[in-house]
Amino acid sequence: MSDTNTDVVIIGGGPAGMMAGLLFARAGVRTTVLEKHADFLRDFRGDTVHPSTLTVFHELGLLEGLLARPHQRIDELGGRIFGRDIRIADFRHLPVPAPFIALMPQWDFLDFVADAARRHPTFTLRQSCAGRELVEEDGRVVGVRTSDGAGIRARLVIAADGRDSTHRTNLPATEIGAPMDVFWFRIAKARGEANHSMGVFDRGRICVLIDRGDYYQVGFVFPKGRGAQIQAEGLDRFLERVRAVGPETQRVADSVGSWDDVKLLTVTVDRLERWHRPGLLVIGDAAHAMSPIGGVGINLAIQDAVAAANLLAGPMAKGEDVEPLLHLVRDRRAWAVRFTQAMQKFAQDHIIEPTLRRQDGNGEPPLALRAFDRIELLRRIPARVIGLGVRPEHVRSPSADPA
Ligand SMILES: Cc1cc2nc3c(=O)[nH]c(=O)nc-3n(C[C@H](O)[C@H](O)[C@H](O)COP(=O)(O)OP(=O)(O)OC[C@H]3O[C@@H](n4cnc5c(N)ncnc54)[C@H](O)[C@@H]3O)c2cc1C
Repeated sequence: MSDTNTDVVIIGGGPAGMMAGLLFARAGVRTTVLEKHADFLRDFRGDTVHPSTLTVFHELGLLEGLLARPHQRIDELGGRIFGRDIRIADFRHLPVPAPFIALMPQWDFLDFVADAARRHPTFTLRQSCAGRELVEEDGRVVGVRTSDGAGIRARLVIAADGRDSTHRTNLPATEIGAPMDVFWFRIAKARGEANHSMGVFDRGRICVLIDRGDYYQVGFVFPKGRGAQIQAEGLDRFLERVRAVGPETQRVADSVGSWDDVKLLTVTVDRLERWHRPGLLVIGDAAHAMSPIGGVGINLAIQDAVAAANLLAGPMAKGEDVEPLLHLVRDRRAWAVRFTQAMQKFAQDHIIEPTLRRQDGNGEPPLALRAFDRIELLRRIPARVIGLGVRPEHVRSPSADPA
């Protein structure tokens, strides 16, 4: 390669890659992040910044700055189940600095992380630059060839290139699957005092309404693979189905004028059983695509980055060979991923799939949900599971900044 040399090159500037970039650079490790797009502008990505992620920002002294950016705040989550409003999770009692979900466009979030990372002289972000292929010598990944034909030689390559990763080949994977796909779109609305985010569950219908202030971010859930059929039935029929969701969706035609306003999320749930091979580590969606249930994707991606930096950044900063440590990242994170995917699969099999299949009869919210609604203390349990997850990570990687 006509190469530049660095310590870590990260392929992908999403939440996992940018956060890893910030933490490795903060430890004094020369770090380059490659992002194939020119900016972070991507609509309908993971915008649900959970208390676990906000805690990480608090530990980095960045929470105040992050929350100075425009966001909406969810203190409580509920649902409308067979026409009945049910309170499900109450985040306000979590023992963390920011006990709520912050809804922030992912591009704002990533811009903020990029700004924080650029304060470290060891950080480089190369946008409009894709990692095209891994460069290997004697069975070990030693760098990346980029889309502009250059080569970057590195002591460690981190693949954080998302669920369609092309750099995780040769690593064994488990496919879990999902019974649904989702159409995402917006419906304009008037700003209200409180945040009214909720899931609407009815016979044959599931719809997620995320209150973004002057619009709802709407996730219209339908049986897997039926997207083309719904589109073939025509936009008018689709808007009719959306209006049937409830009073919040009546003005959908003002916001959705064509299928261009509707983004398909093909839900994938999978995980790698090994996250590394010599010279290469895989994290974030590239290592485990999550179901959208619980809005945990962005948060788990960030937890991976924190764990990777905790285990590797200090030794790398000291010039040590981290090859023998790479397996520890998956060892640390596998339980959280498996547990979360098991919960999501349970919800997919026992709530999502039967609800989408159901065509008649009067529904009654399940007993457990009625109990959450009635007993305030119980609502702290789903808040903890969703907001903090299992095995939340804390920043232990060193800072090279003397301040
Ligand atoms: C439509 C949609 C809605 C979603 N909604 C939610 C939600 O509400 N809540 C939630 O938590 N999660 C949600 N997710 C999932 C969430 O966005 C992901 O879990 C999260 O972004 C994963 O972060 P990541 O950094 O691992 O991967 P990604 O965010 O996918 O980032 C990967 C990055 O790598 C870049 N890239 C890819 N290939 C290359 C290459 N060869 N070279 C350089 N760069 C490359 C991509 O451009 C991208 O910026 C949603 C996802 C989608 C698609």
